[in-house]
Amino acid sequence: MNEVIERVLRARSGPMTDEMVLSPGRFGLGRVPARLKPAGVVDSVCGFCSTGCSLKIHVDASGHALNLSANPDYPVNTGMACPKGWEALAPLMAADRATTPLMRNAQGQLEPVDWERALLVFCGKIKDIQARHGRESVAYLSTGQIVTEEMALLGALAKFGMGIQHGDGNTRQCMSTAVAAYKDSFGFDAPPYSYADFEESDTIVLWGSNLCIAHPILWQRVARNRRGAEIVVIDPRSTETAQMASLHLALRPKSDLTLAYGLARLVIDRDATARDYIAAHTSGFEEFARYLEPFTLNRVVDETGLSEESLQRMVRAIGRGRRVSYWWTMGVNQSHEGTRTAQAIINLALMTGNLGRPGTGANSITGQCNAMGSRLFSNTSGLLGGRDFSNPAHRARVSEVLGVAETKIPTNAGWAYDQILDGIEQGKIKALWVIATNPAHSWIQQSRARELLSKLEFLVVQDMYSTTETVQAADLLLPAAAWGEKDGTFINSERRIGCVRKVARAPGVALSDFAIFKLIALYWGVGDMFSRWTSPEATFQILKELSRGQPCDFSGVRDYAHLEAQRGIQWPWRSEEAASGEPDRERRLFTDGQFHTADCRARFRFDPPRPPPEATSEAFPLFLLTGRGSSAQWHTQSRTSKSTVLAKLYPKRAYIEVNPLDAERWALTDGAAVEVRSLRGKVAARARVTTTVNPGQVFMSMHYPETNQLTLWCVDPYSRQPAYKACAVAIGPSAAEPA
Ligand code: SF4
Repeated sequence: MNEVIERVLRARSGPMTDEMVLSPGRFGLGRVPARLKPAGVVDSVCGFCSTGCSLKIHVDASGHALNLSANPDYPVNTGMACPKGWEALAPLMAADRATTPLMRNAQGQLEPVDWERALLVFCGKIKDIQARHGRESVAYLSTGQIVTEEMALLGALAKFGMGIQHGDGNTRQCMSTAVAAYKDSFGFDAPPYSYADFEESDTIVLWGSNLCIAHPILWQRVARNRRGAEIVVIDPRSTETAQMASLHLALRPKSDLTLAYGLARLVIDRDATARDYIAAHTSGFEEFARYLEPFTLNRVVDETGLSEESLQRMVRAIGRGRRVSYWWTMGVNQSHEGTRTAQAIINLALMTGNLGRPGTGANSITGQCNAMGSRLFSNTSGLLGGRDFSNPAHRARVSEVLGVAETKIPTNAGWAYDQILDGIEQGKIKALWVIATNPAHSWIQQSRARELLSKLEFLVVQDMYSTTETVQAADLLLPAAAWGEKDGTFINSERRIGCVRKVARAPGVALSDFAIFKLIALYWGVGDMFSRWTSPEATFQILKELSRGQPCDFSGVRDYAHLEAQRGIQWPWRSEEAASGEPDRERRLFTDGQFHTADCRARFRFDPPRPPPEATSEAFPLFLLTGRGSSAQWHTQSRTSKSTVLAKLYPKRAYIEVNPLDAERWALTDGAAVEVRSLRGKVAARARVTTTVNPGQVFMSMHYPETNQLTLWCVDPYSRQPAYKACAVAIGPSAAEPA
């Protein structure tokens, strides 16, 4: 144990800062380091969604944030920000910030303890559980909300330092389908696009994506298209985006795969394939074409509920000779057959040659601000640097870069999120460490998820707030700094690495996640393993080395200052390329038609469509769709609910969209209190009678805790991503008010 850190931790008075932990030799007890930037403007990438907008934070003479504005000189947002971005500083000031470690006492109350006690309990309990039940009895759940440097440190510490076998991230809930699809089809998790492709397309296909409110700044990029693009929206619901489309295909819920195969067959029937591209750059097309034969127009019309005319128009819009970009989000990813649906979209792009050229691509748009960082560096489903745990050469390389014995690196990825939770039920997982996520609200079939959390011997939550639903179940809370209170990098949806900057001090003795992980390493007894990980920027240099030689190689990025000077840099940017100048601001992948598979060809992948996991019935006659509610809300609202401005922009209470015909059938009026039931539970909500949903379908927003009391525990077999948008419910009048 470092004696200076011990003295700092034992200090009962005076501020606690990251610098005291990371550079203890520089500080005496009670001294406050001058770490923040001087008065002026600090550029920082927004901490909410994956768009990755740059914000200009205006700071006072002591370096504290005063307010912010959108950065006009950043290629992503060019001076725009959505409501969440404009209010990005508000969550830092919330009254329920976690300011000190909290531990549950004998009376069941969370009570303050100092860091030393918290760390001793954390390490002591977890080591004890590992000793009694085996190393596999402890797991962690990470997040797409922390900086890449923190993700990598957590992943390396947990798996190589603490011997934790099972760790996953909340990115399992939003992105794992895209990861599985890209890895299988392209040989690497490589979203191929640049946002400029929105502006360069002849046809923009938004599949299961309500871009207008989920990624409002990207919708602005669509609006800048100067080619008169056909905008096709594929979504059962008449979303804000669908209402702006030139063609809306309101397909039957979960008939996406049939639609994609039907379109592929129509493209072949019309002789609209890109034969030369298919021959030169793909494998498996002949087999795919034979597989498509049963997907006749009549069958597709019958199964999707779409008209023949709309399908024919769609095929004209995506056929040969046009620049077509396909963009998908959660309507595809959060499905029982999401991976094959994503790959069916990739197939359409491949067979029409729509990859590697301006205005094209099979493009998954990420959700969280750093989901892309998580995909490469969380060390959960993949080994650091986009590698595979099962590959001996990959393990050897990581061992070499980090100076960690190869025997410390697991030979498989461990369990996914749902398997970890199942493991609690089976008595195999006894302790869980949850970092910056809120599974008691966000996981499917919430009552079961909460019951499982309550069965743990030891639940640790590391979070910026002390009041989330998951903290309420915790035995120990480690208080964490928020976005804006620490440095690091995010990677956005178009692979752009950008800097996040510290413009405020964390409250009380809260620390950055980076500093917390470093302290845990010290108390666990593996501090030496991370002696080179002295700061986020020092860690960034390690990440560069971990990326070298991989498709995501960014060894040509010098440092944070380089990222800031270039307004973010998309990977790859190799040291060899850097020798000849600076990167272009917008770059896409696969311009040479070479993929990351063994034969450098992209693969056609397909499976038969399967029925939704839960059919409607007489008792539960309505199909529940879920999704984002407004551009002012973020996930479980632990942050966005803290802004009084944002709170004015969305309904305070849970609501359910009901078609007028269904409202009449169940005698519901607009605004009436209703009860919504599924086999998992019943909740109260307000009816919103609207034609945005078709008869037989209803919609609830994911931001309210009521929604996941209804959803079904079902995951895609390849990605293990939950199918949030597919369960049967019933509805009726209620006397109870929504909470
Ligand atoms: Fe932040 Fe996303 Fe809004 Fe941009 S679009 S300001 S990244 S929340």
